[in-house]
Formats: sequence, C-alpha cells, structure tokens
Amino acid sequence: MSFLDDVKKFGKNLTDKGKDIVEITKLNAQINSEKDNIREIYTKIGEQVYQAFKNGTETGYTDLCNEIAQIENKIKELNDKLLELKNALKCPNCGAEVTKESAFCPKCGTKLAQ
Ligand SMILES: [Zn+2]
Repeated sequence: MSFLDDVKKFGKNLTDKGKDIVEITKLNAQINSEKDNIREIYTKIGEQVYQAFKNGTETGYTDLCNEIAQIENKIKELNDKLLELKNALKCPNCGAEVTKESAFCPKCGTKLAQ
C-alpha cells in the first residue's frame, strides 16, 4: 500500500470517527430528552399525589407531602417579606399584586381594605 493510500485511509477513518461522534451526540441528546419526558411525568405524579394528600386522601407519602407543605409555608413567608419590601399586598379576591396605596385592585376592581 502506498503512502498516499495510507493517508486516504487515515482520512476516511477520521471521517467515520466524526460521523460516530455526531451519531453519539445525537443519541445522547435523544436519551436526555426522553429522560426529561420521564421527569415531567414524575412531576405530574408528584403533583397529583400531593393534591390528593391536601384533599385528605391517604397517599402513603405522608412524610414527603409534609415536607412539601413545609416548603410551601416557607415560600409563603418569603413572598410576604417580598411584598412588604415592595410596599405591596395581594388582592384578596384575585391575588394580583397591588400597591398598598391603591383603594381598588386594578385587575378585578375589588375594594381594598386600608
Ligand atoms: Zn383583584
């Protein structure tokens, strides 16, 4: 085999390797995208279980659901602090963020207690 043939063969191998890498990248991306789909379904399952827990159904996941409930309380506290800093409050009717000076909710028109 001539030197030139060797060079051609080497070049061809490189091209095949390149194709393999593209194919590997594509397959990995597909696998990750399918894993994302599973994660989305996991989330839906979790939300349905938590909703059932909040409705008083025995789910078998009491500890985990209580953890979520605690986190939700913490988020509520943080949101309250945020509203306080922004000098705002939530409309009791629609939940819109309203400045404390507003007499009425600009979104739903509910009269706000001052
Ligand atoms: Zn409102």
